Amino acid sequence: MPPAMHACDLVGAHLRAIAPYQPGKPIDELAREMGLAEADIVKLASNENPLGIGPRARAAAAAALDTLALYPDGNGFMLKSALARHLGVGMAGIVLGNGSNDVLELVARAFLGPGTSAVYAQHAFAVYPLATLAAGAVGIEAPARDHGHDLAAMRAAVRADTRVVFIANPNNPTGTLLPATELHAFIADLPEHVLVVLDEAYGEYLDADLRAPSLEWLKRFPNLVLTRTFSKAYGLAGLRVGYALAAPEVADLLNRVRQPFNVNSVALAAATAALEDRAFLAESRHVNDLGMAQLCAGFDALGLDFIPSFGNFVCVRVGRADAVYRALLARGVIVRPVANYGLPEHLRVSIGLPQQNARLLEALAAILAPA
Ligand SMILES: *Cc1c(COP(=O)(O)O)cnc(C)c1O
Repeated sequence: MPPAMHACDLVGAHLRAIAPYQPGKPIDELAREMGLAEADIVKLASNENPLGIGPRARAAAAAALDTLALYPDGNGFMLKSALARHLGVGMAGIVLGNGSNDVLELVARAFLGPGTSAVYAQHAFAVYPLATLAAGAVGIEAPARDHGHDLAAMRAAVRADTRVVFIANPNNPTGTLLPATELHAFIADLPEHVLVVLDEAYGEYLDADLRAPSLEWLKRFPNLVLTRTFSKAYGLAGLRVGYALAAPEVADLLNRVRQPFNVNSVALAAATAALEDRAFLAESRHVNDLGMAQLCAGFDALGLDFIPSFGNFVCVRVGRADAVYRALLARGVIVRPVANYGLPEHLRVSIGLPQQNARLLEALAAILAPA
């Protein structure tokens, strides 16, 4: 008898090549491990909105609890109509997701597979290789330039079998931003059979003059897919809701591989209300601008290099990042190591409230002080 074979032994090698996503350490986990009170822990590790959920979204989420026995609207009509109105796009070009992570995976499921490849940049968002490899496609990592996307290198990396190029703008974890003119030239130069996924998870934090006119580009480029999220500036990370904007033909394919009820009813209601809450969005941006200035000044004062960032986080170079990460944990401050992104000397710090940023800076100063 041949040795018994388990189903796991028959799984393709491409699945074993996937490095599982490493989330930020949860507050309750650190509290348990270190014997700390949860209230004394500062988490600046997952680019979450330090203001929490906005008042309108909170009220809508609470009201939606009354309908939890019912399936959600699988077509997300209310949220799609609100997005269409808000953004001036047609509803047929909107795809809703359980977080924008979900729509990134829908792109991979619909357009990638064995015999195809996807291109993304060194130091780019970890979900791009994950989704690519899970689909059985080959991931091609183009070298970065100054920690950001090198569009010439990305263009050169595109092969005959490439179906998708992923670009995060601003990028996570580096916070780098591509000028709109360069991005436009890149998209215009790509063959139409290659989709460009432009991930704008942090777009709401950009000043108006830095934003790419990507909604205009959608009308011109049928191979462009924009992805956006309610997890960051809108403060709804725990509800999981995001969306893609694309040509109706592309959106139709993505909707075919989507779970029928991939966005839950509380998320649909809260996101619809959050879109209308301009005051909360403005406050989120304001807190972020203040915190960014506070952290950058603090890093300067400590003599630490950082990568100038356009997001709600900043990568600071601390040298032995793993040791500093652990020393920060011992002081109740959670940040994100980014060695798995090819940045072994940096830590990514999400921007918090002023007192949270101060806690991080004080802890860093104490840890890095010469003995
Ligand atoms: C946070 C993030 C996302 C999306 O997160 P969701 O919560 O799944 O919407 C997407 N892209 C980048 C670059 C991010 O940093």
